[in-house]
Amino acid sequence: MKQIVLASGNKGKIAEFRAILKNFKVLSPKDLNLNFDVDETGNTFYENALIKAKALYEVCKLPTIADDSGLCVDALDGAPGVFSARYSGGTDADNNQKLLRALDGVANRTAYFESCIVYYDGIKSIAATGRTFGRIAMEVHGEGGFGYDPLFMSDDLGKTFGEASETEKNGVSHRARALAELAEKLRDEI
Ligand code: IMP
Repeated sequence: MKQIVLASGNKGKIAEFRAILKNFKVLSPKDLNLNFDVDETGNTFYENALIKAKALYEVCKLPTIADDSGLCVDALDGAPGVFSARYSGGTDADNNQKLLRALDGVANRTAYFESCIVYYDGIKSIAATGRTFGRIAMEVHGEGGFGYDPLFMSDDLGKTFGEASETEKNGVSHRARALAELAEKLRDEI
């Protein structure tokens, strides 16, 4: 089975990638005893994912995949976008509070999560993008998930990702959609 190294140490993410990329043996940097870290200096999710996939390839010389994702709020011209993780400089809860303040009195609360996943094998790169749409709630709802999940009222689910089960979220998430597209594009690589 062809090996592929995922530029993430996040257990949930590794499991999600393994579940969808069934025809590959998905390894983490830890499986290869690699200590991998790179600055996300790109201006887009694609640029950041490509930076990570290429940097990981340089240290393991095996095909790699890397993803970058975030929340884009229409009324904020796509912010927090690539700065989603570092929006407030604090915790996930701080990020959510900052977002609520930024949207105080704003009528249009539409938003989407985007995930870009890039495969790189030293010669070529293959990219896939997934989006999931919704709106920013007036207050946090639910304790599930992470990041902006308690504020993201999903159009598909009719509740916030924070209120959804993992299975429900994985059925409609930006990452699952990007992964499905990538799996399709990678079929010829096996
Ligand atoms: P990463 O690229 O997967 O590390 O995501 C960057 C940041 O985007 C996270 O720290 C979260 O703030 C936000 N984010 C990305 N995906 C999700 C999601 O599925 N739910 C909630 N927040 C997310």
